[in-house]
Amino acid sequence: MIYRSPFKEKSRQTTAFKKQGNWKLGYHTGVDRVCDTDRTLVAICDGVVTRTSGCGKSYGNHVVYRTADGKCVLYAHLKSKADLPVGAKVKAGQKLGTMGNTGNSSGAHLHIEIQNCATWGYGKNLLDPNEYIDWNDFTQEGDFTAKIWKNGSTAERVYQTVADCKAKKNHIGSLSPREAATCTAIVDGCYLLTYSAGTTTKCGFVAYSGGV
Ligand SMILES: [Zn+2]
Repeated sequence: MIYRSPFKEKSRQTTAFKKQGNWKLGYHTGVDRVCDTDRTLVAICDGVVTRTSGCGKSYGNHVVYRTADGKCVLYAHLKSKADLPVGAKVKAGQKLGTMGNTGNSSGAHLHIEIQNCATWGYGKNLLDPNEYIDWNDFTQEGDFTAKIWKNGSTAERVYQTVADCKAKKNHIGSLSPREAATCTAIVDGCYLLTYSAGTTTKCGFVAYSGGV
């Protein structure tokens, strides 16, 4: 099974899995990654929390959870202690913590490890996280229910992509003042709407929340 990214935005690797070096086992036991703005860390798939720990010497604040298909995933160096108790069920995309710099860490980053739960133990039978995680899959998914969006007193421009919406360029249409639409997702602060334009139905992103 390929899991989504633990980040909510683009991230990049800073230390590779099994890199040789001055670690306890002589090599790096997971993958280190950083992101630029949103430090929220989310579950990479549905699962159950199996361990949470306060600031240890090496991993710092960390959380381990068991995925539906029997893998144990460890997130280390969290900014603060995970607020989910052992036994808590988590959904893919649900927040597990915030990227931080606790434990043996020199700069905020996520250290993530994957193992088979049946043989779980710190530093045992490690799997390569890059074989299980699609780092480009960081879209929000899950429980969002379509909501009514309602325009304010000015026309609102519609964009085809989140990037265009944020840059406010290349708009593909616009919505009239007070016009209503259906919001089906919120992606990176932009609102995905479906709306009617004459006899057709169109969709696109807007920046205005419309009360959603
Ligand atoms: Zn690391």
